[in-house]
Amino acid sequence: MSRLDAQGHEWRSGLRFPWPQPPANGEVLEVAPGLLWLRMPLPFGLDHINLYLLRHGQGWVAVDTGLNNVQTREVWEGVFAQALGGLPLVAVVCTHFHSDHVGVLGWLAERFRCPVYMTASEFQAMHQLGGRRATCDWAFSEHYQKAGFTCEQTEALFPLLNSAHFSPEIPTGFTRLREGVTLNIGGRAWQVLIGRGHSPEHACLYCADDGLLISGDQVLPRITSSVCVEVTEPEANPLGDWLDSIERLRAVPDSVLVLPAHERPFCNLHTRLDQLRDHHLAHVQTLLAACDVPRSAVELMAVMFPKAKGRFDEMMAIGETLAHANYLMAEGRLRRDEAEGVFRYARTADGATARPVSGPL
Ligand SMILES: [Zn+2]
Repeated sequence: MSRLDAQGHEWRSGLRFPWPQPPANGEVLEVAPGLLWLRMPLPFGLDHINLYLLRHGQGWVAVDTGLNNVQTREVWEGVFAQALGGLPLVAVVCTHFHSDHVGVLGWLAERFRCPVYMTASEFQAMHQLGGRRATCDWAFSEHYQKAGFTCEQTEALFPLLNSAHFSPEIPTGFTRLREGVTLNIGGRAWQVLIGRGHSPEHACLYCADDGLLISGDQVLPRITSSVCVEVTEPEANPLGDWLDSIERLRAVPDSVLVLPAHERPFCNLHTRLDQLRDHHLAHVQTLLAACDVPRSAVELMAVMFPKAKGRFDEMMAIGETLAHANYLMAEGRLRRDEAEGVFRYARTADGATARPVSGPL
């Protein structure tokens, strides 16, 4: 359900959307003086990413880049010639390492001989993307078979990781972003705020004076960002990190204009933070209810994500299921036992204490 207010702004699920339509693919829309919203197409169900262009002196700073493919480069060529008025990029800021955000980062940095700004963990994670193994190794098999997939199903998941879509063009070096540092871009002071859970050290940019938050994938208005346990760290607790990040973002005023990486810019940040928290806590309750008897992650995935279809969906769904299971284990509310090479999760008695580290140690 949505409605329009007197200013013509759309209200949907408690959030206000000042722009009724996004710019067309490859077009820009000025959302604040010297700040352009650029739509870049993606060849997925989620068919776009929002990039932001910030005027700085005799050039522009880009926030995020699009996927590494021919279409992205063609769109950028049009943007360079028209929207940017022939002025160069003087820097690229990347919010996090996911392929739709860093895809052509190396290409842009090389073309304009400009610096790249990222957090250290995201820069390292981006390098991992390009260094995937050619064959399904022990750690990969172990992770998915312990979740409850068969050997054949596990091997079928492996090629998804090696898709050309997910190999970015990587720059050689970077300038490090840290929590709380300020970037001065075009007369605006942008403070770096770090979020975790969707990616290891996601950078958001917050301009307090003008009430603007470039939120990347840390806060999206309608869809929820993936919060997954990955094969690279099977014992991680990304949901704990994600819920913690939601609370920390409450330090940003509710009144800011949020500029997200997907869908449309919106207002009412705190309402959205409440919704994101409630979404995951509802999943936590669903998972707990299903663990009245010991169940594998694959069995729990079928309860939590009954609509998951196809291998890519399954890979995301099992990652999310494990994120909720690991969170509940860290809270001491689930225990995990291994039988015949598969982990099974069951509710603990009230008052049980969590083990800080899992595995044999
Ligand atoms: Zn992402």
